[in-house]
Amino acid sequence: MQDLTSITHETLLLEVRKQLPHPVDTESQLDGTIVLTGGKPGEVIVRVNDDEVSIAVFAIRWDGPHTPVVNPRELAKFNWKLLPASQTIEAVQGFISSAVQLRRAEYRQCEKCGETKPPEWMLDKWVCHSCAEQHLGVTY
Ligand SMILES: [Zn+2]
Repeated sequence: MQDLTSITHETLLLEVRKQLPHPVDTESQLDGTIVLTGGKPGEVIVRVNDDEVSIAVFAIRWDGPHTPVVNPRELAKFNWKLLPASQTIEAVQGFISSAVQLRRAEYRQCEKCGETKPPEWMLDKWVCHSCAEQHLGVTY
């Protein structure tokens, strides 16, 4: 017979930490939600609370030229207390790897310095912010 016991909060956090790209940054919010951000620059954001887990693609939105705001794009959210542990682990793994793929697909290689950078560090499709400042005289 299949074991329908759900995962524990602690095991879920361990599992998420194991699956996320490193380094993993962990933050506890006032309402008890744990927010784990994997990758540097960030790639995936996972939020875990008493009964829900959500997996999102890391994204940045600019509130003015100097104010980057983390603006996660949620892929999935489900109640981990209702699912058997094995299914929760499988789902978390699957969505984390999709989020990593989606995020990395947005990275662009700068034509000036040749570095691959996330979209929020690019001026446009071809030139990154630091090269734009150095070579094109663009200031922020
Ligand atoms: Zn560059």
